[in-house]
Order: sequence, then C-alpha cells, then structure tokens
Amino acid sequence: MITAYHRPQTLDEALTLLTQPNRIPLGGGTLLSKPTTDPVEAVDLQALGLDSIKKSGNNLEIGATVTLQQLLESEHCPAALTSALKLEAPLNIRNTATVAGTLVSGDGRSTFASVLFALDAKLDTQLSAEESQVSTIGEFLPIRPRGLITSVSIPLNAKVAFDYVSRTPADKPIVCAALAQWNSGRTRLVLGGYGKNPLLAMDGTEAEGVDAAARNAFHEATDEYASAEYRMDVAATLAKRCLESSK
Ligand SMILES: Cc1cc2nc3c(=O)[nH]c(=O)nc-3n(C[C@H](O)[C@H](O)[C@H](O)COP(=O)(O)OP(=O)(O)OC[C@H]3O[C@@H](n4cnc5c(N)ncnc54)[C@H](O)[C@@H]3O)c2cc1C
Repeated sequence: MITAYHRPQTLDEALTLLTQPNRIPLGGGTLLSKPTTDPVEAVDLQALGLDSIKKSGNNLEIGATVTLQQLLESEHCPAALTSALKLEAPLNIRNTATVAGTLVSGDGRSTFASVLFALDAKLDTQLSAEESQVSTIGEFLPIRPRGLITSVSIPLNAKVAFDYVSRTPADKPIVCAALAQWNSGRTRLVLGGYGKNPLLAMDGTEAEGVDAAARNAFHEATDEYASAEYRMDVAATLAKRCLESSK
C-alpha cells in the first residue's frame, strides 16, 4: 500500500528521499500500484529526466525510466530485443512500465532480462548521493540490491538472436534463448522461461557446444509448465536456431 507520494525534481532530491528505508523508487508504477499489505512511500522518478536513449560509441545508453515501448520503438533497438519486448508485456503495460522497474521486478520468464543478460548489459546504480556502482546484469539479478538504477547500457557491436517456445505465440515463454556474439568469437547464451532469474548457460570464446550448454543449464528445470527433459530438448534446439540466425 502506498502511504505517501513524492515527486522529486532532481536526482539529489530523490536520493535524499530514498535514504529512508520505507521509501522506494517508483518507475511506471504498474507493479507498485497493485494492492499489498506493506506500507511504502513512493518516490516517483518521472521528473528526473532519466528517460532518454542515447547512442554512445559502441553502446546504447538507456535511461532507467525509458518505457518498454519507447525502447521498442527506438531506431537503435536490436531486432531480437524488439521481439523480446513484445513478449514481456502487452502494449498498455509497455507504454507505462520502465526499463529499470522491469529488471527489478521480473523473474526467469522475463524475455527482456534474458536478452539483456545475453548482451552482458551494465546497470548504473546510485547507492547514495556519494556512491555509485556499475554492475553487470549477471551480478545484479541474483541479489537485486537496493539503490536507484539510473541507466542501463547495452553493446551495439554484438550480434544478438532470440527465439522462444510458449503455449500461444503471445504468451510468456516456457523456454526462451538469447544468444549474443562478438567479433572476437565471444558467445553468450542465456535461457529464460523458468525460475527466479534467466540462466547464463554459456559465456565462451567460441560458439562450439551451445546446444550441450543449453541442455546442461536446464537439467533441473521442472515446474508446473514443463518438465526438465522437455526444456532441455527445446533449449538445445532454440540455441542452435539462434546460432544459425546470427550467422
Ligand atoms: C495488468 C498487469 C499485468 C502484468 N503482467 C506481468 C507479467 O505477466 N509478468 C511480469 O513479470 N510482470 C507483470 N506485471 C508487472 C509489471 O508490469 C512489470 O513488473 C513492470 O515491468 C514493472 O515496471 P514499472 O516501471 O511499472 O515498475 P514499478 O511498479 O514502478 O516498480 C517495480 C519495482 O521496481 C523498483 N524500481 C522501479 N524503478 C527503479 C529504479 N530506477 N531503480 C531501482 N528500483 C526501481 C520499484 O521500487 C519496485 O520495487 C504486470 C502488471 C500489470 C499491471
């Protein structure tokens, strides 16, 4: 339950407000506006100007309050990320939900987090007015530390492919695969569709063995949607498809 609402006009003001433990950042508010029993004070980030998308050298710098739809419509958004964003949430939610809010609240079925994880995206976080930190999404997801995410950065010099299997084409995936490759040969495979977080199945110097890595990563991935055996087979097939399509 939101018991108080603050709309700071500067980052410093927001960080000062967030020093109180009962206050949390509000991005699009699609999740925070749902009824809960815990009383929280919302610190709305919408006036902070964190809503731009900028190409900077080989990176795309995405402000924390950029909406999923704004990113999807950006000329710089890789095609694989566009596909993943369409599956993350329907249009009305995409128009409101922010990039940072989605990373903080998503689970292993998040197609958006899966593609960003494959791309080894970096998060800029302000821990306090004095202290900031850059972390990879792989470091961030398992602990999701407190702090104000200000931007997310993805490399534009990596090829990225995405594929998935779900009950219907517009449903969240039972298995998804995101594969990123750099000119150096570095290949990262991330699997989603299961558990609390997407899984890094492979981060190698070449693409050899992506299907075996996909199978290994899902060997315990049984839940109400599918068995581990099914997911292992599907993941291996999707990994190979991603590899083919990124050639
Ligand atoms: C009808 C409906 C259907 C939905 N369906 C799904 C679904 O199928 N799957 C799913 O995963 N989610 C679903 N959601 C939840 C929601 O859409 C997503 O989690 C959404 O992407 C959250 O983004 P937001 O910007 O609205 O976050 P908010 O609601 O504003 O915040 C979510 C969390 O992120 C934190 N946060 C926000 N911005 C920052 C920041 N810059 N730095 C640090 N922390 C921050 C907040 O403090 C809060 O803990 C649904 C919501 C609705 C209303």
